[in-house]
Amino acid sequence: MVLNELGGKISAAIKRMSANTVPDETVLKQMLSEIARALLEADVNVRAVQQLRGNVLAAVDLSALGAGVNKVKLIQKAVFDELCRMLDAGQKPVALKRGHGSNVVMFVGLQGNGKTTTCAKYAYHYSRKGWKTCLVCADTFRAGAFDQLKQNATKAKIPFYGSYTETDPVAIATAGVDRFRAERYDLIVVDTSGRHKQEVALFDEMEQMAAAVEPTDIVFVMDSSIGQAAHDQAAAFRSRVAVGSVIITKLDGHAKGGGALSAVAATRSPITFIGTGEHIDEFEPFAAERFVGRLLGMGDVSGLMSTIQDAGLANNPDMVKRLTGGVFTLRDMNEQFEGIARMGPLDKVMGMIPGLSQMLPEGAAGNGSEGAKRIQVFGYMMDAMTDEELDNPKIVWCQSRIRRVARGSGRHPAEVEGLLTEYKRFAKMVQSVGSMSKKGGMGGLGG
Ligand code: GDP
Repeated sequence: MVLNELGGKISAAIKRMSANTVPDETVLKQMLSEIARALLEADVNVRAVQQLRGNVLAAVDLSALGAGVNKVKLIQKAVFDELCRMLDAGQKPVALKRGHGSNVVMFVGLQGNGKTTTCAKYAYHYSRKGWKTCLVCADTFRAGAFDQLKQNATKAKIPFYGSYTETDPVAIATAGVDRFRAERYDLIVVDTSGRHKQEVALFDEMEQMAAAVEPTDIVFVMDSSIGQAAHDQAAAFRSRVAVGSVIITKLDGHAKGGGALSAVAATRSPITFIGTGEHIDEFEPFAAERFVGRLLGMGDVSGLMSTIQDAGLANNPDMVKRLTGGVFTLRDMNEQFEGIARMGPLDKVMGMIPGLSQMLPEGAAGNGSEGAKRIQVFGYMMDAMTDEELDNPKIVWCQSRIRRVARGSGRHPAEVEGLLTEYKRFAKMVQSVGSMSKKGGMGGLGG
């Protein structure tokens, strides 16, 4: 990802600053200038960059801090927080719910931005979680849109609806949604027409479509290559239809990705997923803290490890509470593993977390890449689980669920059982760490 470059530059600036055990105002300002330059190069808006700079300076008043305070850590944490703030829209996206009738999600956006591709990725993401999912092609404007959707849907084994003869997009959408609603689909994804540019006809069609299918959510798909111009585009779409979430595509190929992400967040439109390639699984959920953690973690494993962990835990008090109470779900394990996988070479990272080497699957300790691969496979399987399963792992222990998770992640059922066994071992360990921590400290888990 081109964003690695941005992450690398910010990490390098932090690392240079960290070389000073007691950083002074000059060192801090030097670091902020380097970070500002990197952000501007990624097309982040000048005012947003200035704000970040000002906020970090305000959060770390070096002259007021006593000698005993770890100033380097405080500065790292302030930068981390500010980057998260820059990417956080401050609004929660529309939550889809299962078991309360069909969720209809309508996709809008300009032509060529990746809308059709993203519809398939989105449907595939939910179908891997076990949702009964389908696709409706109501894009009658672009020749070949239906064939493209059909091809993607067939590859992903997702039912679809469309027409070669009907020219009214609203009529197609209505027919498709009615049919799939009657068949009790959990999620109906509707691909609508785009245009080359924002124009009255596009907005009119969007409005009519929304009125006809009454969507649960409207997702606006946007190409990241336009950088900070994404602000005005997102705002324009929002002003015409009730855009509930935004998906930013092509973050694999453009230097301006950081600018697009921060610009969209500035319109208070929550970003829910990002596209990182043309392939159906090059698609990931977006959450500001995780994204920033990963952005920075790539560039500097050792220096930022503890900061990110502190920040991660500080942002997730719920998890700390549960862990110290000895409760540990598959979701927690997934989060731990994701964090570990992001941090770089496993063997290096493991030495930094007391107790972790015993917790990882056998084989992970001796060989960094092999361990990382196993963790990645665990991740695929956990991605194929439902929220309910992640939060209540006991229910996964039945053949039908094991088979479904195996199918959804492209693994063998025995591997799913292997994961569940590892989870048990892991949870037991956490329980003992949890009870230890009640007597003092968090033990090996991120404390
Ligand atoms: P639409 O006109 O908005 O429906 O756009 P398409 O879905 O047809 O996508 C336009 C082009 O962008 C296609 O070649 C896609 O393969 C490509 N594309 C979509 N998303 C991504 C992405 O995240 N990364 C990359 N590299 N290409 C993408």
